[in-house]
Amino acid sequence: MARIVVAGAGVVGASVAYHLALLGADDVVLADRETIAARATSKGMGGVRQQFSTEAEVRLAQASIDFFASLGPECFLQVGYLFLATTEDGLAQLDERRELQAELGVPVERVDASLVSGLRVDDVRGAVFCRTDGVGSPVAVARELVRRAVELGVELREGTRAEELDADIVVIACGADSVELGAKLGVELPVRPLCRQLLETSPLDLPADLPMTIEAESGFHFRRRGDRLVLAMTDPEPRWTDEERVDESVIPDRLRRLAHRYLPAAGARIENAWAGLYDMTPDAHPIVDRVADGVYAACGFSGHGFMTSPAVGLALAQEILLGGADLDLSPYRLERFADGAVFPETLLL
Ligand SMILES: Cc1cc2nc3c(=O)[nH]c(=O)nc-3n(C[C@H](O)[C@H](O)[C@H](O)COP(=O)(O)OP(=O)(O)OC[C@H]3O[C@@H](n4cnc5c(N)ncnc54)[C@H](O)[C@@H]3O)c2cc1C
Repeated sequence: MARIVVAGAGVVGASVAYHLALLGADDVVLADRETIAARATSKGMGGVRQQFSTEAEVRLAQASIDFFASLGPECFLQVGYLFLATTEDGLAQLDERRELQAELGVPVERVDASLVSGLRVDDVRGAVFCRTDGVGSPVAVARELVRRAVELGVELREGTRAEELDADIVVIACGADSVELGAKLGVELPVRPLCRQLLETSPLDLPADLPMTIEAESGFHFRRRGDRLVLAMTDPEPRWTDEERVDESVIPDRLRRLAHRYLPAAGARIENAWAGLYDMTPDAHPIVDRVADGVYAACGFSGHGFMTSPAVGLALAQEILLGGADLDLSPYRLERFADGAVFPETLLL
């Protein structure tokens, strides 16, 4: 059988390697030039949601949920995602998206936001909630996938550049570095790094079932991680750079938003902050495709690569070994960019 080298042991490469082995591939190497989960996977918020604005993105997340739910609390907590609207326009957009998501079978519902104790709701016009969404640990999931892959015979090579290995087939799963490896293999990948940051609070008294909570209009959102909250919000000006730098100037604003929205967090401080890279494509959907002879890509996840990694790993493994996947991969083909992107996902967090 052909030797398959999966480049990148982030959660995506780990999932591809695991699913290849699960489907019977017997000569798979998972190579990372650093270590397991060294880059974006270790920086992520860990959000897992099916609430997107396009069918293409809903389908990938939806096809991943059962896998996450099977992993256990170290890896995933099914606490739901709650979107709050504070304006009529915001609520109309939530409702429009909810209809699309419900048509696709996502169990998303209008709820009274006061279901979350401590949440300030007097300025909330309406809320939607999907109970099967949740939050997880990307590093724990990546490690679990690698553990299973190795158990099934995959060879793990940390500290190894994929291009140094002999291979019949290479899978590019290098996050923001996918462009670099693609260029070495003669493939131009339209992926750009976008710097994003997360802030972590001081310890707080938090309920175990706190959902990921998002203000729809501003994009400000937070989740529980242990006894702290992790906060994020889109930058006013996108930072198109591969420099992973924390902008501390936003901290007072984020703490003000948090204290306003979530009363148990009044008085919280920021004790930790880090930045990482989104691997953005022009339409914010990933590239999951055969991109040249013997070269496949799973990259361009645009900030959603953790939540879609189970479905992507399975689909790409099927594509490589069986010549086609159960999931329709046409929305994620590289060739879509030849004619311009036509269905940009707007719900970026
Ligand atoms: C701040 C932030 C918040 C996020 N929040 C979420 C979220 O809430 N939900 C969500 O789903 N996603 C989120 N993401 C995105 C998510 O973290 C990634 O999409 C996901 O981890 C998938 O990463 P990956 O495996 O594609 O890439 P990475 O984790 O970046 O892994 C790529 C690996 O490739 C290796 N590599 C590079 N070049 C080579 C080479 N030549 N040979 C071998 N190895 C190589 C690197 O060392 C690295 O380990 C967030 C990202 C950031 C930065």
